[in-house]
Amino acid sequence: MLSHFKVVLVETSHPGNIGAVARAMKNMRMDQLRLVSPKCFPHADATARASGADDVLRAATVFDSLQDAIADCRIVLGASARDRTISWPSLTARQTAEKWVGALPEQNIALVFGRENSGLKNHELDLCHYLLRIPCNSEYSSLNLAAAVQVVCYELFVGSGQEIISKVGDVGEEPLATAEQMEAFYIHLQQTMADIGFLHPERSKSIMRRLRRIFNRTQLDTKELDILRGILRFSQNHNAE
Ligand code: SAH
Repeated sequence: MLSHFKVVLVETSHPGNIGAVARAMKNMRMDQLRLVSPKCFPHADATARASGADDVLRAATVFDSLQDAIADCRIVLGASARDRTISWPSLTARQTAEKWVGALPEQNIALVFGRENSGLKNHELDLCHYLLRIPCNSEYSSLNLAAAVQVVCYELFVGSGQEIISKVGDVGEEPLATAEQMEAFYIHLQQTMADIGFLHPERSKSIMRRLRRIFNRTQLDTKELDILRGILRFSQNHNAE
């Protein structure tokens, strides 16, 4: 879903950081990693820090130049912590997500990250349409490389609505009860409360309205409703004995 975003790392010095980037990407369901002249890659430290995201690492493509790495990209964003003397149009990570998360899959977008010690050079930023910024403490604005990738990928993930999709699809999650099921439950509840002598006919309306409010707040799922119906059946049977 986010595969049109290509994470491009320029001349990364520490292989561990490359691994940590792969992990950060996989956490956010991203897998398109491009490396421009990494100092040491492949490397055991990269695999160790990827901790389970070695598939992203294995699929990473290595390029000799930034130009080659972004050749098929239509939009190029250069992530930078520093204020630049020349003013580039800049976007925050969130604005980037808002603008392009829904872009067509063939609309490749490069997210370019710089070196750990010196970031991106001006001639590399010349290849970028936008400066990509992570808003943070202006007196201490340089994040660790993998942390910067993490924040950007997180914004893209949230922007794509996937956190909602993954919640609905959670294992064991039951669908919410329908209005019809809830009405049947309220009738059952009212009947049971009358049977056990709890409900006074003249007070029943206002109590039922309050009970509806309680259940509306909690939004029962079908499994939870089954449990409550089971309790009602049990107390009716018990009462009848
Ligand atoms: N010391 C470097 C920063 C290196 S951090 C410098 O002076 O530029 C490594 C990379 O992480 C940066 O090149 C940039 O791509 C990214 N990064 C770190 N902090 C960032 C921030 N606040 N906003 C955007 N990108 C950031």
